[in-house]
Amino acid sequence: MSFLDNISKTIGQGIDRAKFEADKFQKVNQIRSELSELRKKIDGQRLELSDKATELYRAGQIQSLTLGELIQNIDALRAQITLKEEELKASQVVAPPTPPTNTSPSSQSVPVSVEPPTQPFPQPTPPPQEAAAPASATKACPHCQSQMPETSLFCPGCGARVSQ
Ligand SMILES: [Zn+2]
Repeated sequence: MSFLDNISKTIGQGIDRAKFEADKFQKVNQIRSELSELRKKIDGQRLELSDKATELYRAGQIQSLTLGELIQNIDALRAQITLKEEELKASQVVAPPTPPTNTSPSSQSVPVSVEPPTQPFPQPTPPPQEAAAPASATKACPHCQSQMPETSLFCPGCGARVSQ
């Protein structure tokens, strides 16, 4: 009986623990999102401030070298953005690379395939004695003068045994 009590107690503690963790997680997330909201608001105000300052500076109502420098930096970066945007547009418009145009008519008929010509039938494995012999090592049949590999035991022409 106390054993079962212990189990239910443990489960109860586990649920409490999970709930506590979930609540904590939710609260932390809540605070984090509030913080990022506040930071976003500050960023927005800073942007507005810099826009107003720029406006006033350009209107000659603020005399500040530092402000002028910052505004020039921003102008330079904006110019870079404009260039990059043009570059992006240009690279999106460009057609896929085309092969160089052929000027000679003969090269146009050459197929672009690099694959070797396919063989209609799989090559049968040559008999071992033919495979072992180099192409130049041949001998003539003493009976019918047929040429055969040096290692052949029988003449392919007359069937006579030609081995030594
Ligand atoms: Zn022969």
